[in-house]
Amino acid sequence: MPNEFNDTWRRDFPILAADENGQRLVYLDSAATTQHPVQVLDAVTNYYKNNNANPHRGVYELAMRATDAHEGARHRVAQFFHAEDDEIVFTQNTTESLNLVAYSYGLHFLHAGDEIVLSVAEHHSNLVPWQRVAQATGAKLVYLYPGPDGRLTTDELDKKITAKTRLVAIAMVSNVLGLRAPVEEIVTRAHAVGAVVVLDCAQAAPHMPVDVKRLDVDFAACSAHKLYAPMGMGALYARAELLEKMPPFLSGGDMISTVHEQSATWAEGPRKFEAGTRNVGGEVGFAAALDYMNHIGWDAMMQHEHALLDRMLKGMAALPWLTVYGEPVADGRFGVVSFNVKEVHPHDVATILDAGGVAIRAGHHCAQPLMEYLGIGSCCRASIALYNTPEDIDALLANLENVRKVMG
Ligand code: PLP
Repeated sequence: MPNEFNDTWRRDFPILAADENGQRLVYLDSAATTQHPVQVLDAVTNYYKNNNANPHRGVYELAMRATDAHEGARHRVAQFFHAEDDEIVFTQNTTESLNLVAYSYGLHFLHAGDEIVLSVAEHHSNLVPWQRVAQATGAKLVYLYPGPDGRLTTDELDKKITAKTRLVAIAMVSNVLGLRAPVEEIVTRAHAVGAVVVLDCAQAAPHMPVDVKRLDVDFAACSAHKLYAPMGMGALYARAELLEKMPPFLSGGDMISTVHEQSATWAEGPRKFEAGTRNVGGEVGFAAALDYMNHIGWDAMMQHEHALLDRMLKGMAALPWLTVYGEPVADGRFGVVSFNVKEVHPHDVATILDAGGVAIRAGHHCAQPLMEYLGIGSCCRASIALYNTPEDIDALLANLENVRKVMG
C-alpha cells in the first residue's frame, strides 16, 4: 500500500501532526487508547453546538434531536456488531459492560458448583468481576492456559469446558499477546453444554469485524475510546432473550416503566440497563468513529495493520536481546506486540523510547495472572492503529537499538 495513502489517514488526526520543529509523535500505545480523527471531533462539537438536550425527557424539538442522536448512535453500533438495535446497551466502557453481565447475569443465574471458564490471559476487567461472582455464588473459576506459542489448544478447551461449565468469558484478542482466540471453537463447546459465552472485544473490535451473530456469542463488550472515539463510552451486545430475563444493574431515572412508593417496573430492552442521563456527545462521537472506519473499510485497514505488524516483528527478530511474547508472526495477531529487552526494566525501555519521541506502554497491562504465568513481572507493549506508518515502526526499532546502547 503506498505510503502516501497511509499518511492521508494519519493527517486526519490533529494530535499526530508534527510540531513547529518538525518533530512528530510516534504513538504506539493505541491498545491503551486511540487518538481521534477530525471527523469525530467535529461530530462531537456539532452535537454540543446544535443538538444538545437530555434525550428521552423533553417533547420539544431540541430534546427530540438529542433523542434521535442517541438512538441513531445505537443503530450505528448495532450495525457494527451485526446485531439488532435493542440488543445494544450503552455503557461507559468494556469494564462496565463486563460488570453489567457479571452482576445482572452472573449473580442471578450462576450457582454453587457451576464453573466459569476464562483464560489466564484475561484483562483484569474480564477476570476480577468473575472472581466476585464466584465468591458470591459459590461457582468455581477454571482457567484456560495457552501453549508456548501463546495460543489456546483444542485439547485445553476440551479439558476445561465440561458439563459443569455455565459461562465462558474470553477476550477475542489478548491485550498482551495480541493473538486471536479460537472463539468459534469455544462457542461450539460452550453451547454444547448449555453455557453462555461472554466475549471481550476491547482489543478485537478496532482491528477486525466482529459479527456477533456469525460468532454466535451471547454477550460482547467494547470500549469506544479504543475505536477512535471519546473516552467514557462503551457498548454491550447481549442476546435479546438474555437481556429480557436479566434484572437491572444500576437503577434510577430513565430505566423504569412505572414507579410507586414501594415498587417499580422496568423499561423494555436496553433502556432497562441505561440508568440516568446518557453521554450523548460520546455516543455521537462513537457513531462518527464507526462511520470513519467504515469509510476506510476493513480490507484496507487490516492489510495496512498486518504489514505494520509484520515489519515490526521482522525487525525485532533481528534483535537477539529482545523477547517477544506469543508466536512472533503477524498472521493471527492483531494490534499488539509485547516484548522485553534482556536485563532492562520495561519502564527504562519506555523512558528511553519516550526521549526519542516514541510512546509505548510498560507495566503489567492489567493482566497480572498472565504475567505470573509467563514468569515476568511486567513487559513493554507497542500497539498500532490505522494512523501508524512504516516510519513509526522504523523509529521504534531504531530507538530500541538505542536502548541497548544506553543500557550497555
Ligand atoms: N479488556 C481488554 C482486553 C482490554 O485491553 C481493556 C483495556 O485495555 C479492557 C478490557 C478494559 O477496557 P476499559 O478500560 O476501556 O474498560
